[in-house]
Amino acid sequence: MERAGTPSSPLDDLFQIDPQLPAYNQKNDIFNRAMWDDSIDPKDFFVSYDITNYKPKKAKGFNHWDYALRNASWHLTDVVGEMKLESEGRVEGFTDYYSIQTPGPPKPANLPDQQLTTQRIKQVARFLGAGSVGICAIDHRWVYSHHFNRKSGKAQELDFPAALKYAIVLILPMDYQLGKTFPSALSGTTTGLGYANSLNCANMLAQFITNLGYEAVASLNDTALSIPMAIEAGLGEYGRHGLLITPEFGPNVRIAKVFTDLPLEVDQVKEFGVKAFCEICQKCANACPPRAISKEAPSSEAPNFSSFSGIKKWTVNAEKCFQFWVKMNTDCAICIRVCPYNKDYSKWWNRVGIKLANSPLRRFMLWLDNTLGFGKRMKPQDWWVKSGSA
Ligand code: SF4
Ligand code: SF4
Repeated sequence: MERAGTPSSPLDDLFQIDPQLPAYNQKNDIFNRAMWDDSIDPKDFFVSYDITNYKPKKAKGFNHWDYALRNASWHLTDVVGEMKLESEGRVEGFTDYYSIQTPGPPKPANLPDQQLTTQRIKQVARFLGAGSVGICAIDHRWVYSHHFNRKSGKAQELDFPAALKYAIVLILPMDYQLGKTFPSALSGTTTGLGYANSLNCANMLAQFITNLGYEAVASLNDTALSIPMAIEAGLGEYGRHGLLITPEFGPNVRIAKVFTDLPLEVDQVKEFGVKAFCEICQKCANACPPRAISKEAPSSEAPNFSSFSGIKKWTVNAEKCFQFWVKMNTDCAICIRVCPYNKDYSKWWNRVGIKLANSPLRRFMLWLDNTLGFGKRMKPQDWWVKSGSA
């Protein structure tokens, strides 16, 4: 497996990355640890995604209708992702990249110049559902050393095709209104829908590039870390809550990737003021029920081995975070709901707000955000009523 050719990256300076940083073994991802590490007990968490076994709760947002919708939103992602689970142990999109592309033509298409090719690829990505799209050269530090086989329960060395030089990084916005009900089984629907849109967009784009006669591999959470690639592709900045913050949709997004050998122009890292704002804002850390988000300055030491040490950043304690998800039987994302960057940017006043957040008036913007009550939870039952009557 080739790991040479890692390009120099502005991330080295931004995050003071240890030059000896080892590649990530996906066996240590908290969801995979739940399969082999006795200290991580998933209880009924995964089971609740199977409607024949879910257990409704008395709390609002966790009844039969809520689980029915959440699980339906995951349906296609699960069916496609687990097509080869029994035969090969693959969970495509989560532990393995997608292998559903049909073969390309015998000869590649004529390409216009690199700039126009890049422009067309981005145009198609947006047409296929991406809210924003960027391109980076593949930095092999973010490619997993091993992926996890959920059938054998073992880590396997990842054989990343050496010919793939570029990552097309796709941002798929999640639903802002439904996200106001985080956390609930109902709000897990916006996560499921985000994954379904990611599956759709990344696989159609990979098939388009394959049809042009080039190699392309669609990927969601598998194969490589999405956040550093998205930052390298100029799509956003890193927040205290350990998530990508985009200028167009805040942190309320999913990230997908297409790896390709199609020659493309790469984007530049773009900073727009998130780090300075996170330094004065601790809304996510204060709102996180299990206190999994650091209130301290960025550190190179990870809280546990599910995360990287050797990168100076805020790192969420994945063990505490997942334990809370297990307690609720759904994903949480309170940190997304309360983040002042989580706004409906189709409204002009929110676009003004983000300009304030990224200016010396950031403390005023934070005060305004608190005073106006942004980030408060909407009752899940109100979503059913409001959406139905809209
Ligand atoms: S998802 Fe919930 S538990 Fe996890 S870090 Fe965010 S607020 Fe905390
Ligand atoms: S809630 Fe505040 S501190 Fe947390 S990521 Fe958002 S802006 Fe940064």
